[in-house]
Amino acid sequence: MAIFTPREFDDHESVLFFHDKKSNLKAIIAVHDTTLGPALGGTRMWEYASEEDAIDDVLRLSRGMTYKSSLAGLNLGGGKSVIIGNAREHKSEDLFVAFGRAVHQLNGSYIAAEDVGTTVEDLEIARRETPHIAGISEGNVGNPSPATAWGVFNGLKAAAHYRYKKDTLHGLKVAVQGLGNVGYGLCEHLAKAGAELIVTDIHGPSVEKAVQKLGAKAVYSDDIFHQDVDIFAPCALGAVLNDQTIPKLKAKVVAGAANNQLAEARHASDLMNRGILYAPDYAINAGGIIVISHEGPDYNKKKAMKDIAGIYDTSIKIFKRAEQQNISTADVADRIAIERIEKVKIENSQLAMAG
Ligand code: NAD
Repeated sequence: MAIFTPREFDDHESVLFFHDKKSNLKAIIAVHDTTLGPALGGTRMWEYASEEDAIDDVLRLSRGMTYKSSLAGLNLGGGKSVIIGNAREHKSEDLFVAFGRAVHQLNGSYIAAEDVGTTVEDLEIARRETPHIAGISEGNVGNPSPATAWGVFNGLKAAAHYRYKKDTLHGLKVAVQGLGNVGYGLCEHLAKAGAELIVTDIHGPSVEKAVQKLGAKAVYSDDIFHQDVDIFAPCALGAVLNDQTIPKLKAKVVAGAANNQLAEARHASDLMNRGILYAPDYAINAGGIIVISHEGPDYNKKKAMKDIAGIYDTSIKIFKRAEQQNISTADVADRIAIERIEKVKIENSQLAMAG
């Protein structure tokens, strides 16, 4: 199979494959770009249908991290890792020890963190083998999901303000797909701000909790897209904005936590042509990476949360530029992220020449 030529490869600096026979670890670590700093990105454990799917996923996610950190103004590059396996059945202490050793081989050019299928506890095991692990409890900020939810809330508020000219979410209807770590946290902020919640999740108890505790109205999974709401917040899966779902949307704002919400890049223009304001996923779900960038002995939660609230201003900047240039918000986010990396590359080469 081709590795260097597919679109997902996109000039990755390195892609490493790790195997440990004893624990049956099969992992891939992808480092997309380290211009701005070490490549930080989560470790996903997933039972992929094929090895090709695992490679595509790690490349796509790792490239996404480069853009996310750049847009958030962080001195971090983009990387990601995947462990091939069923997170419910194939986890063991040996597996994460072996994974920690794999991460250590990259000498800090890649820093691992929690992602779908891995927990803080898993990464604490890996941490015994390498210091290059972020977002764990010991001496660190812990689970980044509440920070992500806070950032998404701020991005969503910015989108509501821009599209509906409202300074408050009070009375606005928000459909939330996915009530996991981030989605439920977002719902708590929204309920506190007086928004009306319409929610769905394939996990019944999460829905029940949102109904009981937050006064949310529950709908079936497939019905979430065509709800008569002001805002749609995808907080579950990727590729939910596609040819089938976009025509169903009644919301004029899409702002949620899920990574890679657009099935294809062209769907950003489809949303724009329908008058739907799309808050680019990686722009507003950067709260987790921002809080992790604050980790260290001087960690100050207040300061970190203030920085995350800056996602509001970043979002407004994206919306304004998209309107002025008549291009999609997703294109604007990409351009801002690339501009910063290119600028640093030029500065670095000038420094190298001067030296
Ligand atoms: P999670 O696994 O805790 O929650 C996902 C939820 O979605 C689960 O409750 C699951 O049951 C539900 N779900 C799955 N399929 C569904 C469907 N078809 N319909 C309705 N609900 C469905 O994950 P999370 O940490 O909350 O992350 C949510 C999204 O945000 C993911 O796409 C993730 O990549 C992205 N994200 C998370 C973070 C973070 O800090 N956790 C940071 C950035 C981006």
